Amino acid sequence: MARPTLDFFADEFLAIQRRVHAALMQVLKTEQNLLMYAANGHGAWEAALVNVLNPGSLVLMLESGRFSESWSEMARALGYDVETLTADWRTGVAPDALAERLRRDTGHAIKAVLAVHNETSAGTTLPIAELRRAIDDARHPALYMVDTISSLGSMDFRMDGWGVDLAVGGSQKGLMMATGLSFTGISKRALEMSEGRGARRSYWDWKEMRSVAPQRFPGTTPVHLFYGLEASLDLIADEGLEAIFARHTRLARATRAAVAHWGGGARSGVRITSKGIEGRVGAIELLPREAARASDSVTAILLPDGHDANHLRKIALDHYNVSLGGGLSVLAGRVFRIGHMGDLNEPMLLGALATVEMALADCAIPHQAGGVGAAIAELRRASA
Ligand SMILES: *Cc1c(COP(=O)(O)O)cnc(C)c1O
Repeated sequence: MARPTLDFFADEFLAIQRRVHAALMQVLKTEQNLLMYAANGHGAWEAALVNVLNPGSLVLMLESGRFSESWSEMARALGYDVETLTADWRTGVAPDALAERLRRDTGHAIKAVLAVHNETSAGTTLPIAELRRAIDDARHPALYMVDTISSLGSMDFRMDGWGVDLAVGGSQKGLMMATGLSFTGISKRALEMSEGRGARRSYWDWKEMRSVAPQRFPGTTPVHLFYGLEASLDLIADEGLEAIFARHTRLARATRAAVAHWGGGARSGVRITSKGIEGRVGAIELLPREAARASDSVTAILLPDGHDANHLRKIALDHYNVSLGGGLSVLAGRVFRIGHMGDLNEPMLLGALATVEMALADCAIPHQAGGVGAAIAELRRASA
């Protein structure tokens, strides 16, 4: 990215823009439409809503954690009517619950179903294809909008194969790039709906953007972000998406093995809702309740009652220069998170896990020593 800029109308740059556009559609696994924005993920969240939904429309948010909450808050601020299909943050919504709710909506008042594929605050993942089947089983016409911001490029996502109408992504998570480019994969149906529908919009208006191929940006195209994303997409193409997903699965399993070891395999029955943690946590444990719902790009860890996750994070940062994720909203101080997405390999992960183990000891947080050994055993099993 440390290169001189190019005229964004020049052929040399347009060739880069076209290449990036095509490569990003391959990562989304779509042959439909893609539009990019000079914005972070919040911009793409807003673009997805305002282009297809009339003000006052009812949308159904599948609760998963802090990110489903904040996308809901945005939708409300834009004048949409948001209903939350509530769920324990340790699992997220079940497909049956979605089908049941949509079957009751006989008048088709719900115009869109919104889901976060990988709930970064809870380290959980939703079964996007099964949720699509639930919408189809209920014979409901709602548009299906999915936030892929922290899954894309780390975990399998198939926009067309899974029947997603609007896929929202951003550059700075699994795509390993600087913040500032976000995008929406747009199905044919969503594109049709955007014509003659939607809220007042200018910056986010798809019609303007689609006036030239592959697209124009309102104002100056962020040329340097394209340089960076081109390099990222080259790295992704070189390794191959399937190999990348397998690497993330391997590293995530090793991380979960370490956490399970630190907690001695303890599993409390606590539930987590938008009001907080209900019940007592006696030992370190994974936030996701089931392995099938555990994210392969970030692991969220509950600390036992009476211990401060932010103190642990401060020790890890100040003493060892390792930055751990914090608990968001109701999880602040109770949860810390280990990110394992993007440009990461075994020694980097083992360094992070060793640091967590040192910091747990420094903070006198009860744990069974040897989590790093458990992670190594898991990695060796995977390579055997
Ligand atoms: C990071 C993140 C966002 C927000 O993206 P920004 O680029 O910070 O606006 C939204 N959803 C999920 C799941 C995320 O992980």
